[in-house]
Amino acid sequence: RAKLDGRNTFRFFTPEMQAQSVRALQLENALRRALERNQFELHYQPQITIATGEVRSLEALLRWDHPELGRISPAEFIPVAEDSGQILQIGEWVLRTALAQLQAWRAAGLPQLSLAVNISAIQFHQPQLPELVSRILAESALPPDSLELELTEGVAVDDPRAAIATMDQLHARGVRLSMDDFGTGYSSLSHLKRFQIYKLKIDQSFIRDLDHDSNDRAIVSAIIRMAQALGMRTTAEGVETEAQLAFLREQGCDEAQGYHFSPPLSAANVEAYLLHRRR
Ligand code: C2E
Ligand code: MG
Ligand code: MG
Ligand code: MG
Repeated sequence: RAKLDGRNTFRFFTPEMQAQSVRALQLENALRRALERNQFELHYQPQITIATGEVRSLEALLRWDHPELGRISPAEFIPVAEDSGQILQIGEWVLRTALAQLQAWRAAGLPQLSLAVNISAIQFHQPQLPELVSRILAESALPPDSLELELTEGVAVDDPRAAIATMDQLHARGVRLSMDDFGTGYSSLSHLKRFQIYKLKIDQSFIRDLDHDSNDRAIVSAIIRMAQALGMRTTAEGVETEAQLAFLREQGCDEAQGYHFSPPLSAANVEAYLLHRRR
């Protein structure tokens, strides 16, 4: 990403690039106050076990409503928070808030539920991460396997051995790891077999055109079979239609997540959704 770091480089900026970096600066400043002003909220998207229709886990997704800038997508502000280092504080808030919510749900009679939380590569590379995760789990008195951390393939690009060591540490503490957006990153299969990964989340770009793209069908079916052979589970992301679900069921995919079942919901709406599904 380009930065305004000197007069000599400034003149190579196109007006569009300049507008982008002004926006990034604006977001970075607004982010500084977002936590203390309670502008963040977590929404939760159900992950459906295809074979049974049960919801055993939900993915926590961060929402930011700014009084003047409106709702800003995590796809836009997470990279800004990563560049500025703010992701560490925000990520800790996400973990704490998600686990407090899970504890409340479990106490309210949903004992089987678990939560998935997205972990940025910057967080993953903090040596204190395993300790932090254990501490927050202990605060909420939840079993470690009720927490799933979603990593992306990018965590292992620069230093695969270090990434494997961190995954081993997290695994040893009992949390589950999943590989998010699988198939879009740079992970090599030789590393994948050494990752302590519990589940592969098949990226929504492969699911979107399943109905009419035979290449996507081949890729999705190959990912599912590879995961099965490696002892990993699979979750399809961005499932929007019954036809996509039918294909995934036929191929033996374990879980589906997407608008076909539910968009990400506020905590209050999750309870209503789960009650409704049980009937
Ligand atoms: P992700 O982890 O791959 O999350 C899935 C995204 O797909 C979410 O977008 C979700 O709302 C969206 N989605 C779910 N079902 C469907 C569907 O059927 N169709 C389509 N088109 N989209 C669907 P969202 O919430 O905007 O988040 C975007 C990305 O931002 C996430 O991708 C994740 O990488 C990042 N993110 C979100 N929350 C956090 C967080 O707490 N921490 C970190 N580090 N990253 C986060
Ligand atoms: Mg995710
Ligand atoms: Mg994803
Ligand atoms: Mg994504």
